[in-house]
Amino acid sequence: GRAGEPLLVMRGVGKNFGGLKAVADMDLTVGRGQIHAVIGPNGAGKSTLANLLTGVYKPSSGSVRFEGREITGLAPHKVARAGVARTFQTPQLFHDATVLDNVLAGFPDTGRTPLWAAALKPPSRYRRDAEMRAEAERLLNLVGLTEFTRLRAGELPYGKQRALEIARALASQPELIVLDEPAAGLLATETAGLGDLLLSLRAHGYALIVVEHHMDLVARIADQVTCMDQGRLLSRGTPQQVLSDEGVVSAYLGK
Ligand code: ADP
Ligand code: MG
Repeated sequence: GRAGEPLLVMRGVGKNFGGLKAVADMDLTVGRGQIHAVIGPNGAGKSTLANLLTGVYKPSSGSVRFEGREITGLAPHKVARAGVARTFQTPQLFHDATVLDNVLAGFPDTGRTPLWAAALKPPSRYRRDAEMRAEAERLLNLVGLTEFTRLRAGELPYGKQRALEIARALASQPELIVLDEPAAGLLATETAGLGDLLLSLRAHGYALIVVEHHMDLVARIADQVTCMDQGRLLSRGTPQQVLSDEGVVSAYLGK
């Protein structure tokens, strides 16, 4: 049931691509408001795990439960509606649209009613649009983008594009956000800012799964760390435990 069960419970999840076991027999549990980092060398199966969690791939085996409800094999939009949002290894933004419109695009309904059609809408839609706009502005403030609201997304520095992608993910009102290598391509100062942002999301009650290579960032933000290698669990524990595990160190050195 909802009360007793952790937010996310993956059990025995596997994914085969032809003969390749990209993910094999993985368990993962994430509690409400927790940051769970997933690390491991290239090809370990981290992105595949994120895709299995968010409905991009259907598992070959195993089950995924979210808030006590089976979400295994659901389509991505249904997983999103259940409360799991995600960001990608490469930001997926509308570069010619404004920062604000990129966040509005993250609300579940906006796709059906283009903004130019606002004039044709009944009064209830005006009210809803005003509410969505206020909510989008609140989310932009949360990720530190208030002063960039009217810029085009493509004009933002890369680090801010990451923050915008997170704001858009928040628009779907998730309980859990899955971020695939959010610090990839960021400068050191931007990575530190990203760490601040992820900690503030946790403080607002969001749970996060963060696939990440930057060990300083992982050590700073994660409550729990899972290290994968060749599709399997290699080590799990606190950042201190996992980052000092000999198996983890040699898995990274072996590449
Ligand atoms: P990571 O994100 O840890 O670098 P991935 O999950 O991207 O690893 O990949 C794990 C393994 O699965 C790799 O060997 C990769 O080549 C393979 N793989 C990932 N996606 C696909 C796919 N769509 N089709 C075939 N093989 C894939
Ligand atoms: Mg990856």
